[in-house]
Amino acid sequence: MNRVTDMPLLVESFPLVHPEGMRWMQLSVECARCSHEIPNSHVRGRVTFIPARKGFWARLTRKTRPSTFALNALGLCEPCRLLTPFRYQLHSDSTMTGEHPVTGKEETWKGYTPEPSPTAWDRVQKDSFDD
Ligand SMILES: [Zn+2]
Repeated sequence: MNRVTDMPLLVESFPLVHPEGMRWMQLSVECARCSHEIPNSHVRGRVTFIPARKGFWARLTRKTRPSTFALNALGLCEPCRLLTPFRYQLHSDSTMTGEHPVTGKEETWKGYTPEPSPTAWDRVQKDSFDD
């Protein structure tokens, strides 16, 4: 399992549905070099569900958190012949955290207007709220 093509298409894991009700309908990712959107057919990877941490001990230690989908994926940009890695955590409060593919900085994207990169993520998050 160490070749990219052995991994399932990421889109096959969608929609991601949290027990709390939040749904992520799709995810658009873009190339770290040219910033063009990478088609779903070229994004492969895995999604791991991490249950919410709640209850007495979590509250006592202030370590509660909502359930999370952890994404670990690679997107291939054909024009650049470049693989961009994506490691994101999608939370049931509609925030997404992870390393920005271009800046490499740890970022949090929230609600309808993700900052600091108003790109494809807009559409992702809007879609997530469409019922
Ligand atoms: Zn590219």
